[in-house]
Amino acid sequence: MHNDAMLEELVKTCDFISKKGLAPATAGNFSARLNDTSMVMSASGKDKSALSKYDFVVCDFQANLLSGDGKPSAEAALHGMIYQLNLATNCVLHTHSVPVTVLSMLEKQAQKITFYGYEMQKTIAGNPTHEAELDLPIFDNSQDIPKLALEVKARWDAVKKAQGFIVRGHGLYSFGPTVFDAKRHMEGLEFLVSCEFAKRGLISHD
Ligand SMILES: [Zn+2]
Repeated sequence: MHNDAMLEELVKTCDFISKKGLAPATAGNFSARLNDTSMVMSASGKDKSALSKYDFVVCDFQANLLSGDGKPSAEAALHGMIYQLNLATNCVLHTHSVPVTVLSMLEKQAQKITFYGYEMQKTIAGNPTHEAELDLPIFDNSQDIPKLALEVKARWDAVKKAQGFIVRGHGLYSFGPTVFDAKRHMEGLEFLVSCEFAKRGLISHD
């Protein structure tokens, strides 16, 4: 896809994400691949409800600014790792929702959330049935983003199968070959986590 068209779609998707309350208080970050070494990424500290294409910067996969007005997000190197590990990935979306934040903190040692029996599992590419388990990996939160990126690399097969992962007490990363696919994966995973969040709340109050 032409880079301008992709950026336009990414800006629209950011607006959608913000309206859903998934990127409050300037949190969250969003990117699209430009080529084998660089990406366009939302600049740090921007109000995600009012982004335009001028609020994006170009940086390499190690989070070094190449062009644009602003600083790449602190988490740019995590996006960069995902692009390096999967050449088919062209968009990465990072959201901060209440269900993802809370559910990943309920079991402090849990390395994954397992979904089973949900029709919505089929929205995640490579998961064609509700009659199989879908594991969404969880990583402990860290301000050392290059270290976190290496942990994601070490569990890449599981991350790729889920088309995303959770950073504990922090948020969700999801990705795909197009902005559309990444958005579908983000919505699907957020929906599934919300279902588990609601289900566990009901069970604990029996
Ligand atoms: Zn974050």
